[in-house]
Amino acid sequence: KGERLRLPPWLKTEIPIGKNFNRLKNTLRDLNLHTVCEEARCPNIGECWGGGEYATATATIMLMGDTCTRGCRFCSVKTSRKPPPLDPDEPYNTAKAIAAWGLDYVVLTSVDRDDIADGGAEHFAKTVSNLKERNPQILVECLTPDFRGDLAAVEKIAVSGLDVYAHNVETVRELQRFVRDPRANIDQSLSVLKHAKKVNPTVLTKTSIMLGLGESDQQIMNTLTELREAGVDCLTLGQYMQPTKRHLKVEEYVTPEKFAHWEKVGNDMGFVYTASGPLVRSSYKAGEMSSCRFWR
Ligand code: SF4
Ligand code: SF4
Repeated sequence: KGERLRLPPWLKTEIPIGKNFNRLKNTLRDLNLHTVCEEARCPNIGECWGGGEYATATATIMLMGDTCTRGCRFCSVKTSRKPPPLDPDEPYNTAKAIAAWGLDYVVLTSVDRDDIADGGAEHFAKTVSNLKERNPQILVECLTPDFRGDLAAVEKIAVSGLDVYAHNVETVRELQRFVRDPRANIDQSLSVLKHAKKVNPTVLTKTSIMLGLGESDQQIMNTLTELREAGVDCLTLGQYMQPTKRHLKVEEYVTPEKFAHWEKVGNDMGFVYTASGPLVRSSYKAGEMSSCRFWR
């Protein structure tokens, strides 16, 4: 629809760098970890890694390679029907490196691997258990694929020792087909989140929605209601940013005031934690939630 929208001033602001940032940055090089934070040039890196005054240092690590078997219309990750095989040593080596890095909270995420029988669930679960063995204090969130609705795969991760099970519905029900890969849909995603909670009631479940894709307020309300009905605990809402010209256009830059409105709505609806703001990403300051995926 016509011209591209101009970037509003609230998306151009500098983000403060917290005190741990340089320490983490300097020690990362030798560890061979692939962080979404750096690879996506996430604007929140100073805050997440720095931890600010009181908060905890958070980072998002990619597992299972950089090539996805799906092609969502908002995401700039490389795609292929047959990505290279998994590195069987990755769960051990990654856990070792994360434990040595000095984070308080880590988000483990991955591409979708529809080419692998369990979608890589075992691989995720092994990484968590190795990490928790080395560093029981670290809080672990897994931001997972939908595993094509394979609930046995979901269960492997849900009982692996993690603290937060995250899976993103990405957008309102009405825009799913337009925004996500055709193999994804909201009912499948809700069943993933519900099952994680069912097999491990102590785990927090979490999801994320991008705004600015043309959704209406009523559609947002309806989707939030469905998420609460599925028992989802934590919610993040952030601005969709078009990664390249070939991707979906931004239909609207939602104002910070409107994001604040949705945060209040989330809190009033009974989510344990709602973070909503133009730069909020699924993993944004995730450690504050102990009460990302920004690679699009
Ligand atoms: Fe990393 Fe996510 Fe924070 Fe961005 S929001 S810096 S991807 S942890
Ligand atoms: Fe793959 Fe996830 Fe990107 Fe979709 S959003 S293309 S599933 S990495």
